[in-house]
Amino acid sequence: MRVLFAGAGALGSRFGYMLFKNGEDVTFVDSWKEHVENITKNGLKVIIDDKDLGNYYIPTYYPEDVSGKYDVIFIATKSMQLRSMLEKVKHLIHEDTKVICILNGLGHVDTLKDFVEEKNILIGVTVWTSGLGGPGVLKAYGSGKTEIKQVKEDNLDETLKLIERLNQAGLNMNYSDNTYQSIWHKAGLNCVLNTYCTLIDCNINQYGSYEKHLDLTRAILNEVTAVGHAEGIDVKQEIIEKNIENCFDPKTAGLHYPSLYQDMKNGRLTEIDYLNGEISRLGKIHNIPTPVCDVITLMIHSKESVNGNK
Ligand code: NAD
Repeated sequence: MRVLFAGAGALGSRFGYMLFKNGEDVTFVDSWKEHVENITKNGLKVIIDDKDLGNYYIPTYYPEDVSGKYDVIFIATKSMQLRSMLEKVKHLIHEDTKVICILNGLGHVDTLKDFVEEKNILIGVTVWTSGLGGPGVLKAYGSGKTEIKQVKEDNLDETLKLIERLNQAGLNMNYSDNTYQSIWHKAGLNCVLNTYCTLIDCNINQYGSYEKHLDLTRAILNEVTAVGHAEGIDVKQEIIEKNIENCFDPKTAGLHYPSLYQDMKNGRLTEIDYLNGEISRLGKIHNIPTPVCDVITLMIHSKESVNGNK
């Protein structure tokens, strides 16, 4: 089974490493020059739970330098790179290639459908976490699980067999009809914590320490829930609120600064258009006012602009 990781950043390289170590035929493609060069020269350095697990020579290229066809393609770019990455790897997709998308945020299926038949799109949501300690260095903690669903459920047996095989490498994937709801629940949490921590400049515990945090949370979630329902998703706001509260504890995620905060600090563009920005976009389609998400999206973009993020 030939597996391609289109985007081998924090999350892609973690899943890629797990499959490679389990004997799968894994290739990485990425456009970050130093990352591609370091992995090619020294191998991917893997540090998990503060243990150095060695260097792994996973074949790593620029997307335009790869040919042939792949059986499975994991898309693991940031949301705003999804379309351009699909453009760069579309020549590697054959009629049965399964494309697995586990990006955070909303609206990815519409983009994927421009390149892949719906029966070959597996859309998912993951609670694995991962990081990079610089180009070529995977630095991650703990473990996780991923919920996944085939957009059009033809030939589901093939997909279930694929999941079984991926799970042999410990990916801990679960085929679930609730995947869309879970995607929205995670997006709802990210719409709140990613944006407020960035704008307030605080970690998750500090956000939760403010006595009126629930007023802030609900200002966004009321819009997420209304838009989700209009999209036909059974969004349960009370579950998202509970999930957010569960992150406040310093022993869980309380001391963590969300990914959007880190991207902002590191001078990178953020995934805001696929979180609150997508709620605003869908709100307009359904005639649902989303003033809070509209302003939050503008504020995050203005912060990117003031910082000169690229
Ligand atoms: P990432 O930023 O680590 O990698 C995405 C792309 O950006 C890769 O192509 C990578 O090589 C490139 N990149 C990374 N750092 C760079 C730098 N300094 N300069 C230039 N290019 C750089 O993103 P990720 O964390 O792997 O996330 C991928 C998707 O998965 C996103 O949608 C994210 O929200 C989601 N996600 C991530 C995690 C996590 O813990 N990392 C968890 C769940 C979901």
